[in-house]
Amino acid sequence: MLRLTRRQVLKVLGGATVAAAAGGLPRELVGWVQAQEPGRALLPRPGRRVVIVGCGISGAMCARTLRKLVPEVEVVVLERNPSYVSGPSHVDYLVGLEDARKVTVTFDGLAREGVKLIRAGVTGVRPGESRVLTPQGFVEYSVLVLATGLVPAEHEVRNLLENRRLSPHAWTWAGTVELRRAVEAFNGGTFVISVPPPPYKCPPGPYEVACLVQEYWRNKGVRAEVVVLDSSDRPQPPLLADLWRRVLQEKGIVYKPSFKVVELDPTTRTLISDRGERQRFDLASVIPPQRAPLFIEEAGLGAPFVPIDPATFRSRTQENVYATGDVAASPYTKSAFTAFLQGRNAAYHIARALGRDRGDPDPVFNQCWPYTSSKEALLVEVAWDREGRAIPARNRTGPPSAAHVQARKSWEYGILRAAYG
Ligand SMILES: Cc1cc2nc3c(=O)[nH]c(=O)nc-3n(C[C@H](O)[C@H](O)[C@H](O)COP(=O)(O)OP(=O)(O)OC[C@H]3O[C@@H](n4cnc5c(N)ncnc54)[C@H](O)[C@@H]3O)c2cc1C
Repeated sequence: MLRLTRRQVLKVLGGATVAAAAGGLPRELVGWVQAQEPGRALLPRPGRRVVIVGCGISGAMCARTLRKLVPEVEVVVLERNPSYVSGPSHVDYLVGLEDARKVTVTFDGLAREGVKLIRAGVTGVRPGESRVLTPQGFVEYSVLVLATGLVPAEHEVRNLLENRRLSPHAWTWAGTVELRRAVEAFNGGTFVISVPPPPYKCPPGPYEVACLVQEYWRNKGVRAEVVVLDSSDRPQPPLLADLWRRVLQEKGIVYKPSFKVVELDPTTRTLISDRGERQRFDLASVIPPQRAPLFIEEAGLGAPFVPIDPATFRSRTQENVYATGDVAASPYTKSAFTAFLQGRNAAYHIARALGRDRGDPDPVFNQCWPYTSSKEALLVEVAWDREGRAIPARNRTGPPSAAHVQARKSWEYGILRAAYG
């Protein structure tokens, strides 16, 4: 075994720092060397600076709106990925209904509008010092916006992390690519998808996946039994419960309510519920419970989501912190439609807090067109007032229709254009 003395280690690290500065090292090592120096400010001390963590649909829309409302304020977005894949198209991609390139956006449009983008994964927030931390250094803020979306808590289902291969899911992009490969390779048997306890992103998503993969296998002549295990006592969202029950029954998809998966047994390929019920599978897709990234909880900004005032998106614990989109604990559905509008509306409230009153934007609204097959989709609409109170009289649902598929696609391309330019 190679042994290095402390002196030799320091020499190597010193050399690495010099070489990294000269750009002579592999990227991973540059990152590692820089990670030892988190005390560096990545940007000069701000005048008035809004820092947004996450350039998903909500963060991007917030950044773009802020540039229009308060052009004199510096807007900085920290995003760990070089591009963003639209959430709704995860289900389309799974069964070959969408070309991933058409729903993947870069951040160049935002940069052209004067948003400063830093490619970095945020690892911490120090609210007392108004700083966000990254392995490369810190960034100071006057206002912080958390728009990170959610992370799947795979560790909450026993053996799931260690056996991802047996049970990929579409609630991350990497997982979607993996599940598509598994769906394509599947040559028959029982496919089981499990629905986590709400709230999770895209309430109708799991039932859409069940319908689409069943259709895909039928068209290929693959014999598959499709089973949905639901943590809830009815399909989600509750407004669509009756329609989903009818659709699933007509398609011969087995639906088991109140079945919360807490364990995957890899040897018998069985999913086990909190009440000890068992369901065997050939291919599974356990959708884990979802929560805010750990750094938010560690900063004391909230868990499992960030508590906010739904009227202003301001944190209930920190004056100069806001949260929008899925990561916020709010009455709004965890969906791309509301995340987009929340990002826009948060920008109006931040502008007002910075002394520029630009009026009141329309309240948040949700419209969703969940697939029941590649050719038809349902409709669900939910409305809230400016304070975030539900307006049940304005809720609406619609049965499977081809027109809903058209509406879904043009809406998705439209919000991507509106948020990313
Ligand atoms: C399978 C599926 C189907 C869906 N279908 C629909 C649908 O039909 N209609 C609909 O309206 N919605 C749908 N959604 C939901 C929708 O995609 C999400 O609700 C929406 O994307 C939330 O937006 P967001 O900006 O809050 O978070 P995200 O879109 O998750 O964006 C968060 C961003 O933050 C970045 N980030 C996270 N942590 C860090 C960090 N520490 N440092 C730096 N960057 C970070 C991420 O890389 C990401 O770019 C679906 C979702 C899924 C998974």
